[in-house]
Amino acid sequence: MTFAVSTLLSEETIRDRVRALGEQIRADYEGKNMLLVCVLKGSFVFAADLARAIDLPLKIDFLGTRSYGDGTESSGVVQITYDLARPIADVHVLLVEDIVDSGLTIAHLLQLLRTRNPASLKVCSLLHKPSRAKIEVPIDYLGFSIEDRFVVGYGLDHAETYRNLPFIGVLSA
Ligand code: 5GP
Repeated sequence: MTFAVSTLLSEETIRDRVRALGEQIRADYEGKNMLLVCVLKGSFVFAADLARAIDLPLKIDFLGTRSYGDGTESSGVVQITYDLARPIADVHVLLVEDIVDSGLTIAHLLQLLRTRNPASLKVCSLLHKPSRAKIEVPIDYLGFSIEDRFVVGYGLDHAETYRNLPFIGVLSA
């Protein structure tokens, strides 16, 4: 089956928002030992752009999760596929997510990372689908709230494809 992709958020729209988020985060984390945690795979593009928009000497680590199969519905089960390389005790951790949908993934990750005693733990998500929330999660820095559409591009996939699209789009069959 082939899909057409229509643009929801253009490259320019995303770039402007990421720049603003970077400035806000820089102001909040100035003077702190900061770690950006990129939640793989979906946030790899956002995290790369966000890291370059934060004018601070920060560190970056990666955490792999899987909550979807090849379909578009959450399985509700969050699996850690790749863990952080270093301890995070006394570190100011900012989790970078591509999208908060049901909230199950981020709730699970917050619970997991809190047990490792970071100095602080906050969430930055590029996208949020408020109508899909199954659990309330704090999003300290948010790019865009979107409607309940399955989106791809800018790191987000459908069956592992479309991650390299430079914009965020909606699949139409
Ligand atoms: P949650 O646990 O909040 O339901 O889902 C979080 C994860 O589901 C995201 O990190 C992302 O990988 C995936 N996801 C949720 N909504 C979408 C969507 O619209 N498009 C894509 N490609 N992935 C999504």
